[in-house]
Amino acid sequence: MIPAAFAYERPKSLDEALGLISQDGAATKVLAGGQSILPLLKLRLASVDRLVDIGRIEELRGVRQAADGSFAIGAATTYSELIDSPVTALACMADALPTIGDVQVRNRGTIGGAIAHADPASDLPAVLLALDAAVIARSKRGERTIPITSFFIGPFESALETDEIITEIRLMAPSDDYGSAYVSIEQQASGYAIAGVAAVLGHSGEVMGSTLIEDIRVGVTGVGDRAYRASAVEAALRGTDCSHDRIARAARQATEGVQVNSDIHADREYRTAMAEVLVRRAIEAARARSA
Ligand SMILES: Cc1cc2nc3c(=O)[nH]c(=O)nc-3n(C[C@H](O)[C@H](O)[C@H](O)COP(=O)(O)OP(=O)(O)OC[C@H]3O[C@@H](n4cnc5c(N)ncnc54)[C@H](O)[C@@H]3O)c2cc1C
Repeated sequence: MIPAAFAYERPKSLDEALGLISQDGAATKVLAGGQSILPLLKLRLASVDRLVDIGRIEELRGVRQAADGSFAIGAATTYSELIDSPVTALACMADALPTIGDVQVRNRGTIGGAIAHADPASDLPAVLLALDAAVIARSKRGERTIPITSFFIGPFESALETDEIITEIRLMAPSDDYGSAYVSIEQQASGYAIAGVAAVLGHSGEVMGSTLIEDIRVGVTGVGDRAYRASAVEAALRGTDCSHDRIARAARQATEGVQVNSDIHADREYRTAMAEVLVRRAIEAARARSA
């Protein structure tokens, strides 16, 4: 289908883009990889007066690694560029990235677009929640850091203001004390998650002969109206040895406090059951990698 007419701008710098996006509220939108917004415009499920294409702004692209090993990822970095970058040292990123869409989607789709779109079935939100990412957003008014735990506020709704552009996503450094994993059940046609779970586990060595998990973060996507942290599961396992039995018991709380989705791809009962299974599998896999 053909979208309704809109103006197209291709700024050369972030400053220029911020100037354009600050002008007329929601009628102007950012275009990054176009893998979500262009289908919406073509199907006339959304309309804009103007698109501001940030896909070629160099300062928004690429992965930088700081001296402490932590990552700063430019918002317009594509999935394919991430697959070829050092962020795959974080095992949950390495697990998730190749499962997203197909080669075309991965060559065009960006990490900034993936989270700004806030699709409740996207893969990366679960991974970024488990990694406790920080989202850097800029507007003409200044820059702010949004913790990923406050970023997703509803289906296709994020904490971003209409004049803000995500510039960077910051991630923890890979560490031998940490293990992580992402597992999902995908829609066959698109690859979107029917249910997807990322787990990150950190220990601080052996205490009286057993390794205790001090830090545990579990991100879930595809299940609720937004990606979320499975806090009850985390609380049940934090400070324990994360034995198989404990993990299995904790995983039963995978959807605690969540209104579970039901749609043509999977009903509520199936998603609830799969959330439990995937939470168990992701934690087991992360545990094995944190040895
Ligand atoms: C066939 C197909 C299969 C797919 N399969 C999967 C899948 O398996 N898993 C999955 O997770 N996703 C999947 N996707 C979605 C894909 O990951 C999209 O690329 C992603 O959701 C959006 O990234 P984008 O760069 O293309 O954003 P765009 O489409 O350009 O933009 C999406 C939204 O984000 C806003 N935006 C973009 N960048 C910024 C920024 N830096 N700051 C502020 N706002 C911004 C735009 O204004 C727009 O509202 C699929 C898409 C298609 C078409």
